[in-house]
Amino acid sequence: MCGIIGYTGNKQAAPILLNGLESLTYRGYDSAGIAVMGPGGLPQVYKKTGKLENLTASLNGNMPGGSTGIGHTRWATHGGPTDANAHPHMDCRGEVVVVHNGIVENYIALKRELVAEGHEFSSQTDSECISHLIERYLDDEFPLEESVRLAAREIRGANAVVAFSGREPDRIVGFRLGNAGGIVVGKDDEGGAILSSDLPALLPYGREVIYLSGGEMVSMAHGDAAFSTLEGDPIEKKSVHIPYSPLSASRGGYKHFMHKEIHEQPESVINALKGRISFDDLTVNLDEIANTAASVDEIKRVMFIGMGTSLHAAMLGRQWMETLARIPCEYDNSSEFRYRNPVLDEGTLVVSVCQSGETVDTLAAMELAAERGASQVTLCNYPGTQTTRIADDTLLVRAGLEIGVAASKTFMSSLVALYLLAVEFGVRRGVLGEEARRELIGELVRLPDLLGKMLLDEDRYMEIARRYGRRSDFLYLGRGLGFPLAMEGALKLKEISYIHAEGYPAGEMKHGPISLIDRQMPVVAIAPRDSLRDKMLSNINEVKARDGQIVGIITEGDEELAQRSDFTIAIPQASEALNPFLVSIPMQLIAYHLAVHRGCDVDQPRNLAKTVTVE
Ligand code: GLU
Repeated sequence: MCGIIGYTGNKQAAPILLNGLESLTYRGYDSAGIAVMGPGGLPQVYKKTGKLENLTASLNGNMPGGSTGIGHTRWATHGGPTDANAHPHMDCRGEVVVVHNGIVENYIALKRELVAEGHEFSSQTDSECISHLIERYLDDEFPLEESVRLAAREIRGANAVVAFSGREPDRIVGFRLGNAGGIVVGKDDEGGAILSSDLPALLPYGREVIYLSGGEMVSMAHGDAAFSTLEGDPIEKKSVHIPYSPLSASRGGYKHFMHKEIHEQPESVINALKGRISFDDLTVNLDEIANTAASVDEIKRVMFIGMGTSLHAAMLGRQWMETLARIPCEYDNSSEFRYRNPVLDEGTLVVSVCQSGETVDTLAAMELAAERGASQVTLCNYPGTQTTRIADDTLLVRAGLEIGVAASKTFMSSLVALYLLAVEFGVRRGVLGEEARRELIGELVRLPDLLGKMLLDEDRYMEIARRYGRRSDFLYLGRGLGFPLAMEGALKLKEISYIHAEGYPAGEMKHGPISLIDRQMPVVAIAPRDSLRDKMLSNINEVKARDGQIVGIITEGDEELAQRSDFTIAIPQASEALNPFLVSIPMQLIAYHLAVHRGCDVDQPRNLAKTVTVE
């Protein structure tokens, strides 16, 4: 949560900071602010409640000068979204300015101490105490870097902080404690150094970046970036090449990033397959999981974990792995898993799904798994992130930059990676013979084309939006592979259209949710032609018998289900294993068009942020 940006170089900092913040707003949009170094080493702070437009409007075209500065877009945890609580925060002597991502868990004690020493606070945030703490140490003996280091040692919790001071007007110092949102560092070609919470703000300047780990610090000045530990030992860090184009951070001709990203799915599926399958002999080759593959026969159990949409991908991964590789599998929500003292040992493989590579609960769950000796594969969209450093192996999902807060193409690409993982394991463990492998991979090869065709016409989704746009509740039902998709469809709808929705296994309906069904309650029934289709038909009949409205997600040509439904979306004929990819499209587009119809802010839904870096 929160987007951080910092620049020091030869150019005017303010436009760079504002552009950076624009590409980071998916991380939070309660307020936005920048601080730039003014003449005579006096930092100038500009901040405003609400979205970035408010800040830009308040500047009224008067961009402050200065070639060093920091910026922030906030997702509030402590203190409401007000101008005073917006970042950057300055200490009361006007010496130190900070932006912060995370929670200072001991801020009450620190604040009390600082107030007793005479520091005056002007906000209710936990963040402000960091600027006062740094200022407490700042003097000739302890210049900025050392003062920040001393302050960092007093802060508890997972935090990322970036600071600068008029004492050293060209320097920016940042550090990371624990698993709070990342800090990524890059350079431009013109003697500038830049850091940010995430890649979209950095990619316009170069694709070689360096990620800070917990307990590390960066100090940038005069186009250079030096790294050290919080104990003060210098460290050499390797840069990572990011294979994504900065162009993908623009909306192109689309009204919303989410819509563009939904339409990019055929291409991101091709990218996820490239080099991993042979289109000629339909083999799989997952070089990236060499460590895990070497001991694949020793795996006794696979535990899939994730949060939100990534959890729903993990649930599908579990079903594919169980069916295709015949290994006992479970799934869990990372935040529950990490606190439930799970049984883990060398025979357990933990597969984590985390598109950002920074989700705080998944990181903690992975650390726990590592401590207990489990081996780990992680799925992630960005090379070099924190999750990739904990896991033994990383399967990059290769979806490209995803800016819409509600995940779409990263979900699809994660499914591709999970499916390939299950096929690879099935082949290696001798469960899948050549014919089965050829069939499964042969189906996957059809996917980009099928998805492309499904995305050609969205009229039916607009019709659903017109018909059901005023309903306040939806129920999503599915069985087997359809159940995680019911959860995902309901989540998408809640996230972006603010309509209450529940995802249930269809068999569970009679154990409670059926009492909700009436004429006002649309029921999205995921009923493609598969081994559970007839069971779904019975559930659909039960809903119809109670005057419920059925939106059937059915396979093309299934006349019987079409007749039983009030409205249908047809997916192309495909194998049972492939259906989840296809069903994902209506799950996304129903939510998207309902949200647009209701006038919701699709890319920046209220209260949400894309990367969840606080518990
Ligand atoms: N705790 C800080 C605030 O409320 C930062 C929150 C965050 O990282 O999301 O302003």
